Amino acid sequence: MRWVHWIVEPDRLPDAEPTTYAMQCAVCEQSSDPHVDFQEPKTWVLRHAARNPCHHTYREIIVRPWHAWMTD
Ligand SMILES: [Zn+2]
Repeated sequence: MRWVHWIVEPDRLPDAEPTTYAMQCAVCEQSSDPHVDFQEPKTWVLRHAARNPCHHTYREIIVRPWHAWMTD
C-alpha cells in the first residue's frame, strides 16, 4: 500500500471546458441559457424584469471546470 496525494484546482488547461454564466430568477426560478459571455444572461435579466415587474431578485449560476490529478 502506498500513499498518494491528489490535487484539485480550477482547470486552466487549453482543452478545459469553458466557464459559463447563467442567471436564474429567484421568484419564478426561470433561467437564462448558459453563456460564456456574461452579457447574454445580464440581457436576459433586463428582459425578464421588464416582462415581470415584480421579479426583482436573481441568482448568478457559474459553472467552472475543475481538474483533479494524482501526485507521488
Ligand atoms: Zn421570474
